[in-house]
Amino acid sequence: MKQIEALGIDFGSTTAKIVGVDRSGQMIWYLLEPAEPRVEDQVERFLQVARQVIGSLDGIPVVATGYGRRLVQLASRQVTEISCHARGVFQESGHGGTLVDIGGQDSKVIGINSDGKVLDFAMNDKCSAGTGRFLENTASRLNVPLEQLGDLALSTMEEASISSTCTVFAESEVISLIAHGVSLPSILRGLHHSLIRRIMAMVRTVGMVPPLMLSGGVAQNPAIRRLLEEETGEKVLIPQYPQLLGAQGAALIALENH
Ligand code: ADP
Repeated sequence: MKQIEALGIDFGSTTAKIVGVDRSGQMIWYLLEPAEPRVEDQVERFLQVARQVIGSLDGIPVVATGYGRRLVQLASRQVTEISCHARGVFQESGHGGTLVDIGGQDSKVIGINSDGKVLDFAMNDKCSAGTGRFLENTASRLNVPLEQLGDLALSTMEEASISSTCTVFAESEVISLIAHGVSLPSILRGLHHSLIRRIMAMVRTVGMVPPLMLSGGVAQNPAIRRLLEEETGEKVLIPQYPQLLGAQGAALIALENH
């Protein structure tokens, strides 16, 4: 089995991830769990598992990113999610472009040049509209499993107009539409489109340089990819493990700095 040479930890607002890469930078191990309020305890547990896999963490460089990164004491460096996502996607794709990252409670658009360097970025971490939470709230209110949201939204070409940009108001609007007999798929399509409009505003701020790439847990939602393609007229590329991209980038930075 290949040897883990560096670790990256991405402690997000919704999920915590740890990734191990080998000497060539290939991801060979990971853990992903819902984020717990006690960041230090969860990180320690992650590291315990890593110790069991690797044997000892002595000499293994660790870089932390994400909103809880400052609480990862073992990390030799804390690096922003912007840099880690850019590093991760460059490793995966070998080219630059525009990366859209949609996580549980924030979203970002990052312009990356052909050498993998960050040119510009826009970030929304102030409002849950434009993030996974926007869809999650409605999914749980409507009793639709998160994994089915996208397919349901794509099962129709009809689209209910959702005018509220606020997550809380959108939820009330959805309930009212259901009460008026509007079909669930068309409501969901409208909701996805509302999220895409928020993302497109950030894409315009940064300026789009193709190819367009998508990461974060929400990249697993097929309607987000499809509607983003329709909105931009560009094909959207998704890395193999979009939710792990930040942790993967952190591990690569750890490896390179070692
Ligand atoms: P963060 O790094 O901000 O903690 P993630 O990038 O891990 O967040 O994304 C978490 C979000 O991804 C969840 O809040 C959820 O909305 C979304 N998500 C996770 N898995 C799926 C899935 N299979 N289908 C659709 N959305 C998903």
